[in-house]
Amino acid sequence: MQHPVQDYLSSLVDRLRAERGGELATYIPVLAEADPEKLGVAMATVTGRVHCAGDADTEFTIQSVSKPFAYAAALVDRGAETVDDAVGLNPSGEAFNELSLEEQSKRPDNAMINAGALAVHQLLVGPFAGRQERIDRVVGLMSLLAGRRLTVDRATYESEMGASDRNLALAHMLRSHGILHDRAEDVVAGYVAQCSVLVTVRDLAVMGACLASGGVHPLTGERVLPSLFCRQVLSVMSTAGMYEAAGQWMAHVGIPAKSGVSGAVLGALPGQAGIAVFSPPLDAAGNSVRGVLAFERMSEDLNLHVMEAD
Ligand code: GLU
Repeated sequence: MQHPVQDYLSSLVDRLRAERGGELATYIPVLAEADPEKLGVAMATVTGRVHCAGDADTEFTIQSVSKPFAYAAALVDRGAETVDDAVGLNPSGEAFNELSLEEQSKRPDNAMINAGALAVHQLLVGPFAGRQERIDRVVGLMSLLAGRRLTVDRATYESEMGASDRNLALAHMLRSHGILHDRAEDVVAGYVAQCSVLVTVRDLAVMGACLASGGVHPLTGERVLPSLFCRQVLSVMSTAGMYEAAGQWMAHVGIPAKSGVSGAVLGALPGQAGIAVFSPPLDAAGNSVRGVLAFERMSEDLNLHVMEAD
């Protein structure tokens, strides 16, 4: 007999297949070649049960869903004081790639927008780390959390590096304010490699469960992150993880989450589970259309909203 959660996820995938809205991201050329029909859902509980449905073994690039994990790595490597000095904790209310900084401090608003993610990427390992060391660090942490060795997709990396004017502009702006000190090209290349890591929904759900559990790996029982840093990462995800729709998401879905332009959405429900959906077509805010619908239904059907009193 199948587990009831497994049955639920399979029927959810069947219902969502009829949904046809959204557009593929095109500003990174390789993403425009994604198969819009792909749809996968996975849920990993903090107690180590993993349930998948649909195209659960399809690999896609993690894109912005890497940002919470790079943030966690930087918090471990440099401590909260250094990280908070460089990157704020407030939603920006602006597009993910906006050239904006906090008025007074001149920090990027948070680690979920590109300006913040570039600053976070440079903080990895230590003050004198090189480009490859930083890439190894973030790919290493994501691999540890996923429970398998993850790799950078060369084709996506090259494709995005050929379309990086915006991120280079952000990096130069951060350098002009003394937030970045390394070469803009090196920080952008490292960040783009971080975004080009291949994952499945199963990987993301398990990685999310590591955050949801307060840093204890659901499959091994090993402590992989300090719980205080998981709390900080989940807090920023809950206010700034879903692009300009973050507030609406919190009201309707109520699960700390991060989405990315490849069509991935990762939710991490404190004390309970990591949940991931992959479906490439995006809505106007840049979130996966079927991903948002899937989470709205799961939140409602399984009573997952963190603000729900009963
Ligand atoms: N690598 C992408 C960029 O920086 C990630 C964007 C996203 O997923 O939001 O433009």
